[in-house]
Amino acid sequence: MMSTTNCPNCGAARIHRSRRRTAFEQAAAAIGGGMRRCHRCNSRFLEIGGSLIRLRDAQRVARKMMLGLAMAAAVGVLLVMILWLSHAQSMPPAFFLSA
Ligand SMILES: [Zn+2]
Repeated sequence: MMSTTNCPNCGAARIHRSRRRTAFEQAAAAIGGGMRRCHRCNSRFLEIGGSLIRLRDAQRVARKMMLGLAMAAAVGVLLVMILWLSHAQSMPPAFFLSA
């Protein structure tokens, strides 16, 4: 049976816990992820639930998720603006003149 601590990149068994360096790695650690580094090929991995994910892939997925969140936030702001504008237009013109 293969050990999960083998490097997914080169298969080396010498894979060690790595120090967290970036905000992304600290965020990953906060949700239960661990950082691993292979001594042979120097690849860095994110360990979540016993499986290793290449750090580059994990960051790409995280970026996509952030982009999705940003898009959702933008759509939300747009909806609020449309609602606010349609509400503002239903107000009497005197409201704007006196303001
Ligand atoms: Zn390796």
